[in-house]
Amino acid sequence: MPDLEKTLQDLQEQGLLRQRRLLESAQGPEVTIDGRTMLAFCSNDYLGLAAHPAVTEAMTDAAAIHGVGAGASHMVCGHHDLHHQLEQALAAHTGREAALLFSTGYMANLGVISALAGRNDVVLEDRLNHASLIDGARIAGARLKRYAHADHNSLEEALNTGQRHALVATDGVFSMDGDLAPLDGIAALCHDHGVPLMVDDAHGIGVLGQMGAGITEIRQMSSKEVPILVGTLGKALGVSGAFVAGSRVLIDYLIQKARTYIYTTAMPPALAAATLKSLNICRDEYWRRERLAKLVAWFRDEAGALGYDLMPSWTPIQPLVTGSCESAMAVSAALARRDILVPAIRPPTVPEGSARLRFTFSASHTDEHMEQLLEALAAARSETGIL
Ligand SMILES: *Cc1c(COP(=O)(O)O)cnc(C)c1O
Repeated sequence: MPDLEKTLQDLQEQGLLRQRRLLESAQGPEVTIDGRTMLAFCSNDYLGLAAHPAVTEAMTDAAAIHGVGAGASHMVCGHHDLHHQLEQALAAHTGREAALLFSTGYMANLGVISALAGRNDVVLEDRLNHASLIDGARIAGARLKRYAHADHNSLEEALNTGQRHALVATDGVFSMDGDLAPLDGIAALCHDHGVPLMVDDAHGIGVLGQMGAGITEIRQMSSKEVPILVGTLGKALGVSGAFVAGSRVLIDYLIQKARTYIYTTAMPPALAAATLKSLNICRDEYWRRERLAKLVAWFRDEAGALGYDLMPSWTPIQPLVTGSCESAMAVSAALARRDILVPAIRPPTVPEGSARLRFTFSASHTDEHMEQLLEALAAARSETGIL
């Protein structure tokens, strides 16, 4: 066992100790956190659905009828008709034959990769993939090879080594950089080499596309190009859980083999009811995606005018890389003094030397919220001198 106290002390000294804040309100632009009212620009509630009255009502109504707990795993007696309806709706939403619900995106990635790859396999992943995709290859016992971020040539080189590859896996929208995977090139390479492609679109679902079906909607990619599509429900859809979508045979196989699906309690049926409602709102209310695009353009213009060099992201994830942990913490603290909540993201969540503030936007941010943010950012800029 590691020396627990020393490890904690070391983290503290290196400015790497992670600390939790206590949220006392519903999720939304204005939150009560550690007893203070703050304006949050850091949640993944992109569409503003996490506390939407209709979604909340769907959950409480369903709980009144079906209770709270699922009571068992899907295989035993926990697979509820509401789960079934949600799977069908998610399959239709993403234009796939079938979908399978998981309790979280983390579990979906672990379950899918370990069901599809084994000890003698190589799994190829983007260097900046989410931790759950990395861990999936690890628990599969597969050899993990990482190609340069969003680099089609680096992937091609890896594919040309003559090894047999079980899977290529990539984020659709990268969670810490906000950029998109170059899916056209990746899908073509996977097709040429006969390797299945898995896309984790946790941050694209609900955000990208006319209907909010994510990166495969804007790239018009069916199961043929992207046979394994993962989406999460806890981000833009404002609920909790995840799904895998693909061919009927893929889903039937995962039901037999994905251990994080089999050996766990099903999500509460009322949560499935809430998700059905939020999925409908997501599809019907295109204005939420339009609003997001407007806020992102607005932020980029103003932050650019202050001299901040933003990353090439046009999603609601807008990182401002300051480099050192200290500088990221200083800007975060300067914003916090002005009641703006944007935590610093530090290694190992992001690569060494690329500590950042990760601003995120929600359709429920008002113009006044934006003005408050931009004013505070200008003040933080002059106060800290950090660019
Ligand atoms: C958040 C996230 C996950 C994990 O999803 P949870 O449902 O929160 O466990 C997986 N992949 C990516 C890319 C993510 O951003």
